[in-house]
Amino acid sequence: MTDSDRSTDSHLEVRTLDKTYPGGLTAVEELSLSLASGELLVLVGPSGCGKSTTLRCIAGLEEPTDGDIRIGGRSVLGRRPEEREIAMVFQNYALYPHKTARQNIGFGLRMTTDLSEETIETRVEDVADTLGITELLDKKPGSLSGGQQQRVALGRAIVRDPSVFLLDEPLSNLDATLRGRMRTEIQQLQRDLDVTTIYVTHDQVEAMTIGDRIAVLRDGQLQQVDTPMSCYHEPANRFVASFIGEPSMNLLDCRLGPTETALTGTVDYPLDDRLAAAASEARERGVVLGFRPESPTLSTATDGDDAAAPSFTGQVDVVEPIGERSFVYVTLASGPQVTVATPGRTPVRQGASVDVRIPPAGVHLFDAATGQALVHPDRDDQPDVAGITTEELD
Ligand code: ADP
Repeated sequence: MTDSDRSTDSHLEVRTLDKTYPGGLTAVEELSLSLASGELLVLVGPSGCGKSTTLRCIAGLEEPTDGDIRIGGRSVLGRRPEEREIAMVFQNYALYPHKTARQNIGFGLRMTTDLSEETIETRVEDVADTLGITELLDKKPGSLSGGQQQRVALGRAIVRDPSVFLLDEPLSNLDATLRGRMRTEIQQLQRDLDVTTIYVTHDQVEAMTIGDRIAVLRDGQLQQVDTPMSCYHEPANRFVASFIGEPSMNLLDCRLGPTETALTGTVDYPLDDRLAAAASEARERGVVLGFRPESPTLSTATDGDDAAAPSFTGQVDVVEPIGERSFVYVTLASGPQVTVATPGRTPVRQGASVDVRIPPAGVHLFDAATGQALVHPDRDDQPDVAGITTEELD
């Protein structure tokens, strides 16, 4: 395949992929994903949800039980890993300890191509230059830092000029500062190289910051594929709502009251027309009321400025200041604990009695039995943490 073929047609399709391991464990079920040429998709989900299995099936390291994997419109099933034009980067880098960085980067080309030694050497040096590791080329992995080893592992993948990049938790072994920096570098690199990429992580913050789109996986099943902002503002179900966003969305189990104009349960919450119409869809099954920590306001008096919002008394358990805002954990008098994000330093102290006002415009509802979303807030109405609405910014 030439470079021009690759850039026009390296879209990747995973079609109804199933993988059941010997012994009967189904790690991936009916998974379908479609990536445009050059797209970066993040596959995110808790440990054990089937992310690595999916990558290994795409790379040809595992054989799918069912389904198809297509690159550029052609099935790659039955092709050996080295014939798939895929490069994979692993969490543990998997570098050869006794080879120099130069030898590690060039190894794949020496084994799988008949390129001349001179061409290989030139390509290794070009890649090292791109990654800023030229001066490390003659060192062995043992004398390199974690970040440097990660760059060598990336170099080994890039040098093969793959059609598809598979990155399996590539930054997990790095400290937080380096992780942030490498995240930006990988994003930049992926854009420059224009290679179709799946990036696997269990870290939803990493997923949100790196992906054009994110695919959320749970127990081998796809929950939602969407932009990070859509997964955050319009989660398809209760699982995505609680998994995406830090701290998690508050989720309170309720049921529709007899008049159908209010929820009862862990909180008694009056319903406006928007919420009442949605809640009636799950009349028989129960309703989960959800709101992001930045949606409510806290006050120590009952005459707050948002008197229209239903208010709940509670007591502050913990205050976590994180700089530009604080997270306040409050146990409501009716039982549940909720998290409230307040801008800046909050005067609220542990043990204080507070009112938590939960505006209806910020409320999501989910079906308690199926977990499916019933209604989301109108995104334009949502204040950011500084209290500025999107409308004011426009
Ligand atoms: P993740 O990458 O999301 O952490 P994995 O794809 O590694 O998840 O694993 C998904 C499930 O498949 C887990 O329950 C794991 O224990 C199981 N699994 C992974 N590899 C094998 C294997 N080779 N044999 C049997 N079960 C496996």
